[in-house]
Amino acid sequence: MIEQQIKETVRDVMDFPKPGIVFKDITPILKNQELCTQIIDAFVERLSGLAFDAIAGIESRGFLFGLMLANRLNKPFIPIRKAGKLPYKTVKQSYNLEYGSATIEMHEDAFEPGTKILIHDDLLATGGTVEATSLLIQKMKGEIAGFSFIISLDFLKGKDLIKPYADKVVALAE
Ligand code: IMP
Repeated sequence: MIEQQIKETVRDVMDFPKPGIVFKDITPILKNQELCTQIIDAFVERLSGLAFDAIAGIESRGFLFGLMLANRLNKPFIPIRKAGKLPYKTVKQSYNLEYGSATIEMHEDAFEPGTKILIHDDLLATGGTVEATSLLIQKMKGEIAGFSFIISLDFLKGKDLIKPYADKVVALAE
């Protein structure tokens, strides 16, 4: 089972990036090419019912499998980045963190209005990042086609923030 393999491979790092947090480190997955391929295969299978034109991956770990998946499906990839990293003109979206706020952005010509976009990230925690990404894509008149994650930490209730898309969320492990 892919879920079990992901859980066995991901490493829990205590107190990162700050005391009290148990960080799910996905880098051990990247050392295992066979598992990487199985993860992409699983996404392709589980996303087969969703119609989308492009994949938006969230910096930085969302780039890893987001780009692999886009390439496998022969679809464009859109990088969503933290503020200040993209070189061309951008549209921005700010969101609240536990302490303070953050801003994400993408290039203003990243996609055409009406494009159906799958939002991908490595991990869903509280949902703030994907909620902000959804708002950013909607600002540019894109359609949210669904979401994919390697891991969803369901106890953090991130799915509550993307409830309207509840039947369009694929998470390979909890
Ligand atoms: P959220 O906005 O609280 O859902 O946090 C999700 C974002 O933070 C994603 O971009 C993740 O890559 C990152 N993140 C939060 N916790 C972890 C973790 O334990 N492992 C890997 N990434 C994490």
